[in-house]
Amino acid sequence: VKIAVLKETRPNERRVALVPVVADKLAKLGAELHMQSGAGTAVKLADAAYKNVTFAANPQGLVSDADIVLSVQPPSLEVVNAMKEGSILLSFVYAHKEVEITKALRDKKITSFAMELVPRITRAQSMDALSSQAALAGYYGVLLGSINIARMMPMTTFATGSIRPGTILVMGAGVAGLSAIATARRIGAKVEGYDVRPEVKEQVESLGAKFIDTGVDARGTGGYARELTQEEKDKIASVVTKHIQSADIIITTASIPGRPSPKLITRAQIEGMKSGSVIIDLASEGGGNTEATVPGETVQVGQTTIVGPLNVPSMLGEHASELYAKNQYNLIELFLKDKAISIDWNDEVLAKSCLTHAGEIKNEAAAKAVA
Ligand code: NAD
Repeated sequence: VKIAVLKETRPNERRVALVPVVADKLAKLGAELHMQSGAGTAVKLADAAYKNVTFAANPQGLVSDADIVLSVQPPSLEVVNAMKEGSILLSFVYAHKEVEITKALRDKKITSFAMELVPRITRAQSMDALSSQAALAGYYGVLLGSINIARMMPMTTFATGSIRPGTILVMGAGVAGLSAIATARRIGAKVEGYDVRPEVKEQVESLGAKFIDTGVDARGTGGYARELTQEEKDKIASVVTKHIQSADIIITTASIPGRPSPKLITRAQIEGMKSGSVIIDLASEGGGNTEATVPGETVQVGQTTIVGPLNVPSMLGEHASELYAKNQYNLIELFLKDKAISIDWNDEVLAKSCLTHAGEIKNEAAAKAVA
């Protein structure tokens, strides 16, 4: 079984889908490994760091006879069109944003497993790249917050007097938010957390943060949140505004599957924030959680700085690549056995992760988005 690993080409993307430790494990499964030259250079992994791997410069040539292709971002149209009919792709795809590529995967009869479709169930936790990458982003968001603010976070006593701890408010307490809360606690801040799914209260509190209870329950399907009504938004604002306005750093992480990022903070709320405060908007990729966020940029509103970082996992590219490669390995292990590929479509993880197979789009939401 021949596996080909691509070099990422999209802006801000520094991860690589294969790291040396995982290459060794794939070789033990009997895979023959090929990589595009320089695939790991953005995370300081030289080609020579990979044993058991053959390198080639041309991505089309690389995938043309591969049985399995690995990447982080979806491959370009040219590369998809160069793939062997019936071969397998593992990458993030996000079909609603990648209509042409999804159609090409379908028409080339590629079996694609989209990493964002891996079900959020206990058995699939080790394959869940959304979670591994979000956990890194939450951690990094707090670091970005603390380097963008001209204040210390921990309570500290000096000969001249003491500094009170800073307050960090985390809005959206899913995987990234909980990781941000844990990190904010570690740097000694007073931490508050908030979400529209009341069941996270316990998780927030177990990390030593205060949960802001708004009385709104916006649980949607599959453990995710749904969009809010105007009435719910008003109810939330009446509780949350004073917390927004007393925070030093706010980390926002809220998202709703398949929808633009919900706006959690209005321009008026930002205008009422403490001077010198900072918002790190980890939902920038989907348009951002504040009315003032400019994805990819840092902007000022009054005396508040709003940072809209893109592809935050890539800022921790080394660990992001390692975790991502392990997520993919655990998925590959489900269908690569005894040096042969055999996909059990009764396996819930494989069935639900599948985006395209045998000339069809298998995921219902993606099929609608592409039609
Ligand atoms: P996500 O990235 O879709 O959203 C992040 C958070 O934003 C969520 O907690 C969501 O409730 C919140 N949010 C949405 N709209 C909001 C609003 N208007 N105001 C405040 N918060 C808002 O979610 P995620 O982090 O990927 O995870 C979502 C769920 O999936 C969680 O319940 C998580 O525990 C669960 N999960 C389960 C597993 C597993 O069992 N294997 C793995 C990962 C995640």
